[in-house]
Amino acid sequence: MIVVKIGGAAGISHDALCDDAAAHIACGERLVIVHGGSDATTSLARQLGREPQFITSPSGHTSRRTDPRTLEIYQMACRGVVNQSLVLALVRRGVRAVGISGVDASLWRGTRKSAIRAVEDGRTRIIRDDFSGTVDRVDPSLLNTLMDAGYTPVISPPGLSEAGEPINVDADRAAARTAVALGADNLLLLSNVPGLLRAYPDASSLVAAVSIERLDEAESLANGRMKNKVLAAREALLSGVRRVVIGDARAESPISRALDGAGTVFA
Ligand code: ADP
Repeated sequence: MIVVKIGGAAGISHDALCDDAAAHIACGERLVIVHGGSDATTSLARQLGREPQFITSPSGHTSRRTDPRTLEIYQMACRGVVNQSLVLALVRRGVRAVGISGVDASLWRGTRKSAIRAVEDGRTRIIRDDFSGTVDRVDPSLLNTLMDAGYTPVISPPGLSEAGEPINVDADRAAARTAVALGADNLLLLSNVPGLLRAYPDASSLVAAVSIERLDEAESLANGRMKNKVLAAREALLSGVRRVVIGDARAESPISRALDGAGTVFA
């Protein structure tokens, strides 16, 4: 059982990923594909004449401001653009791929942040109409039913809040929770970098391996958007996933390469 999270950053090829996924599925492996939609949301928002906004918490964490209109655009981008494109690419390769979101059958349940503190011009203000949160419960029953019947699930955000609202969730961390819920052996977080870099963007500074004892050190090396991937790796590893690889989605056969240990291997 392998959970593959594919990133949306520049330079990532869906074709190479889908060729490789199709080959693994043809060999009888169980694969679940997870994706996010951050870059697609930014680009769709601009096309719709809305400049994306980001907010910074008092601790310095930056996240997308997800007001009700942005939530709509986020869902259009995740479900309509990214998910559909991945499902099409897989179906064209003979895979019985099924696109679902974290809302379907309450797959990704999470907590919506009801009040967010944001720092603006040195002043902190409270935002109450934001729709972001974190996935804290995964119900794997739909995924298992689909896989038992020979289908390959392709999961898109949003998640579902306790009050039944869609929420903007981090797909790396949702993928980690999904891997735990499925009892996966491997979680592959594939992006546009060779892995966790000690001195980003110097590709020769790749951290090849991280043991459980050195998770804190790995976390201290990650900045910006790499931080969530290392947090996801930690959550998965400490909850029983045998191996997590932060690997490169830009190369040919990115799944096989990551399974062979190319990238940063957490084990
Ligand atoms: P994706 O959308 O593909 O999931 P993200 O853009 O969320 O990927 O995260 C990958 C990005 O993290 C890289 O493109 C890079 O800009 C950034 N990054 C920050 N620090 C590091 C680091 N230490 N090593 C590798 N990448 C890093």
